[in-house]
Amino acid sequence: MKALGYWTSHLDPSLPDPRTLRIEYSDLRFKQALLGYLQAGNCYTQWRGLSYCRFACDVEAPAMGSKCLSDGEWVWPEGLAHYVDVHSVGLPEEFLDAARRRQFTMPAIAFDCNGPRATLDYSIWRRFAAG
Ligand SMILES: [Zn+2]
Repeated sequence: MKALGYWTSHLDPSLPDPRTLRIEYSDLRFKQALLGYLQAGNCYTQWRGLSYCRFACDVEAPAMGSKCLSDGEWVWPEGLAHYVDVHSVGLPEEFLDAARRRQFTMPAIAFDCNGPRATLDYSIWRRFAAG
């Protein structure tokens, strides 16, 4: 499973800071479809605590979520939609292509949210963030 939308922290300082990944979403229909896709992800992992916004905006913590979501190919934090929506954070073309291939329709997959977590592959995410 490929990871995206994970940010630098003391646990892994090599992950990107979202403030360096802002882009212009000129196609607003595309942006809305992408947001719908991100929000419709299947629960992949349920965490105990809520996330927070790295832009320190005044978003309510519940909007940042406490889950990781998946489309069966990619895994992202529930709060990623907020970063795309409010802070215009860009995402890797590989993920956008996968969403387009599915016409932004989320496949329904029942993961065991509380089960063991597979190791995620961060290589595309790291390459995107570095470039
Ligand atoms: Zn924010």
